[in-house]
This record gives sequence, structure tokens and C-alpha cells, in this order.
Amino acid sequence: MPHRGIGLSFLNALIELLYPRLCCVCGTGLTRGENLLCTSCLYDFPFFDAALISGDGLFSSFEEKCRPEGFHSLFYYNKYSKYKNLVHAVKYRSQKELGIFLGKMLGERMRGKIQADAIIPVPLHAAREKKRGFNQSQRIACGISEALGIEVWEDVIVRVKDNISQTGLEPEERRRNVENIFELRNPAKINGKHLLVVDDVITTGATVSSCLKVLADAGNVRYTLACLARPLA
Ligand SMILES: [Zn+2]
Repeated sequence: MPHRGIGLSFLNALIELLYPRLCCVCGTGLTRGENLLCTSCLYDFPFFDAALISGDGLFSSFEEKCRPEGFHSLFYYNKYSKYKNLVHAVKYRSQKELGIFLGKMLGERMRGKIQADAIIPVPLHAAREKKRGFNQSQRIACGISEALGIEVWEDVIVRVKDNISQTGLEPEERRRNVENIFELRNPAKINGKHLLVVDDVITTGATVSSCLKVLADAGNVRYTLACLARPLA
């Protein structure tokens, strides 16, 4: 029925007019064929280069038993970079597919470089997850899982304390703020396993190191870390 097709495309055009799809990085209108990021922002994408981090001391604060074997990040940003908008968008915007989209990009870059048994997203406190409607780290983990074919396990660790944001805290305050916020639920499942632990942003690593410390109680656990973004000064 041709008239029906015309009606639908008219409806789509009207929806685009009323709710234009915008680039999550620069905010310009997306054209047909573009999804979430415009072509120009994808072209200039500041992919994280492992050489940038070697020697920057991220793992120095991690205890020996939970020191990661590797670290992967999709991109880096600083306070002047428009790409920091992505970090915000993954957490708060209504574009539900953005975390999965970026997680998939990250997973594709990790292909052939990692041999993990499972992916563990850093959990949010249940109350916060309910308020936000989702856990952004879980979305990223699902994107990585799609790219690498590694399962996401969400039943091994929970966040039992809804700590205040780490933003603006001094290193020692950050460490104390994330003490005892996680609890292990399924130690037998991860004993002897290599885990890919995923967070949205890793700054000083205080939160993720607190998470690894709890996972380490399961015994004989190996780690690799992955995040979407690493802020650089
Ligand atoms: Zn853009």
C-alpha cells in the first residue's frame, strides 16, 4: 500500500523535525546515516593510546594481590575536550544505546589482545541504579561482550554503600570514600578466573581498586581493566 509508506516517512520526518537527533559530542544535528556521533567527531575521535599511560602510576596504589595485568580505555579527554560530553551522555542522557555503542567500539579495539573468562561491570548501588534507570558500566560491558563474545556476570559483586561522588576529593579522601562499599556474593564462580572489570571512567582508580580488592577474596583471580575514558590533566 504505497500511501501507507508515504505516511510513515512523513511521520519520521515530522519526528526528526520535532526531536532532532544531535551528535553526543558536538551537539550538531545528525544527518541520515549518522548515529549518535557525527562523521566529523568520529573522524577526530581521540582514541586512547596505551603509550600515554605507561608510567603514569595508575596501578601503583593497587595492592599486589589485585594488580591488573592490563588496562584498556577507548578514549582520553581533558577539561577542554568536547569529548568529555560523552562521559556525561553515557550516564545521564536518554540515549540508552550510547553506552553499548561505545562499549562495542572498545571491545573491537581489544579483540585479540585479551583472554578473559567473564566481564564484571563495577556495580552501582541499587537505589542509584533505580533512580538512573540503568548502570552505565553494565551498558559498556554489554557492548564489549557483543564485540568479544565474553559473558557479563552481574551476580558476583554488589555495591552495598551509596558513597558520595569522588569528584573534588583529595586522594586520601577518595580512598576512604570507597572503603567497604562492595560485597562479594558468589566467590566460587570467580575463583581461578580471569576477569575483565569495566567502569565508565577511571581517574585515580580508587573505586575500581576497592572493587578488585573484594573480588580478590574469591582467591586466585586475575584482572584486566577496561573503561570508556581516562581523563588526562
Ligand atoms: Zn559531532
